[in-house]
Amino acid sequence: MNKLAKLDHQFVWHPFTQMRDWLKREPVIIVAGKGAVLRDMHGREYLDANSSIWTNLHGHNHPRINAAIQRQLKKIAHSSALGLANKPASLLAEKLARAANFISPGGTSYTSPHSKKAKSGARGTRPSEVWLEKVFFSDDGSTALEVALKLAYEFSRRSRPASRRQIEPRFLSLAGAYHGDTVGAVSLGHIDLFHKRYSGLLFKTDKVMSPYCYRCPFNRARPERADASEYRKCNWECVGLVEKKFASQKRKGNPYAAFVFEPLIQGAAGMIPQPRGWLRQVTEIARRHGALLIADEVMTGFGRAGQASCLSPSSEKVRDRLEACPTWFACHHEGVQPDFLCLAKGLTGGYLPMAATLTTQKVFDAFLGEYSEFKTFFHGHSYTANQLGAAAALASLELLQSNQSIRARQILEKNLRDDLQTLWSQPNVGDIRQVGLIAGIELVRNWRTREPFDLRKRAGIRVCETMARRGVLTRPVGNVIVLMPPYCTTPVQARKMVRVVFDSVREVFGRRFL
Ligand code: PMP
Repeated sequence: MNKLAKLDHQFVWHPFTQMRDWLKREPVIIVAGKGAVLRDMHGREYLDANSSIWTNLHGHNHPRINAAIQRQLKKIAHSSALGLANKPASLLAEKLARAANFISPGGTSYTSPHSKKAKSGARGTRPSEVWLEKVFFSDDGSTALEVALKLAYEFSRRSRPASRRQIEPRFLSLAGAYHGDTVGAVSLGHIDLFHKRYSGLLFKTDKVMSPYCYRCPFNRARPERADASEYRKCNWECVGLVEKKFASQKRKGNPYAAFVFEPLIQGAAGMIPQPRGWLRQVTEIARRHGALLIADEVMTGFGRAGQASCLSPSSEKVRDRLEACPTWFACHHEGVQPDFLCLAKGLTGGYLPMAATLTTQKVFDAFLGEYSEFKTFFHGHSYTANQLGAAAALASLELLQSNQSIRARQILEKNLRDDLQTLWSQPNVGDIRQVGLIAGIELVRNWRTREPFDLRKRAGIRVCETMARRGVLTRPVGNVIVLMPPYCTTPVQARKMVRVVFDSVREVFGRRFL
């Protein structure tokens, strides 16, 4: 074993990894990357099929992001946001706030309630009731959620009559939810395997059914060789359960303070897509019951969820609106405007750890007061608003906005969709689901019965290990193989990723065909 591998084995403890298994074999040591390709220390090349755990957007070693970081590095790498401002973070906050507000693709154009246009009541312009305009920076997805959680908690308490302030604000999240590994984020999570053993450390949150159509007890459709969310037969019972949950909490005299969700697709839950219309319906229910909406777009943000179908970048009208980037965020695909938008992973293009929690003036105002009132938001991290991270993010957002990137994303999304069809011929592929540039392939014992593999059999892990030997790197979520390539992935590379899934599934499960 080479020296670096030995050092890793001796000193490094890897995340979400059974270290006994890890120590049995020599690790892949990455030394370089270019575009969608990673290179290890022996010169072996791999396709980065999960964008380095869902972070990378435009490819590794991108000249524009590299240059932006280098330019910033010549000035300064970091100065604290506790007591000081800086240029790239201010520019980035403005850019994020501009992109975070939903612009109706139809007639009405929403605008900031503070804009002159809205105040003058200009025709065709409506002030949005929820306008995201304040940006709180932090470090990663977990901290972005912690910030939203603490702000929502305190905002809810402060918005109540004094007599009710002692009642603890209560949060609702989705079954299978994963929002990070810090204690607040874990409290919002509902994956027993990760979360249950820490229950003594956590505060109590409630969960409600999420629409996992493939395994939904209300779905009467027999298994088909198609995405289960598209051929389901049901009466939206899952939405009915959300309504019930909100109503029953209201009856208890403490309506939910906030509803926390990943829009369009839940990631760590198993790449579970929500059928069209679900998000809009459940968020309307939440709003009707007075709950704040906390959207976790740590995975789905920055174009990952694809282009909204109503938009075509070739149309003039749309090009005009690209400035506002209506398709960067999954919420906007369903016209949903949250009170908190949590962003991380792709924010810097996958270069540096940085996160942002966006919220409204109303929430911000609840923390204003004389110093002596101690209404300050007493929260912050050492590297908040890091200048290198902000410079990388600005360059990444510029790339994201370019016609070239928009076109590349459309092509990649379509190619993935077409290529993935080949996997249906594998009897151990039960469901293939894709939302934009995110795909999950659920492995099962028997597709006709949807019988799952016992997690202990490590079916997903075994397939991914085989894929790595064939030059494609990704990590499973349980028995779901994830493909989430960088946006620069070429058609040939995308095809190889899918082909390698095909060959690896066949190698692991034998040669039985339909
Ligand atoms: N939210 C979502 C939806 C995520 O997918 C993740 C990470 N996979 C997180 C939050 C936590 O992000 P981080 O690992 O950057 O703390």
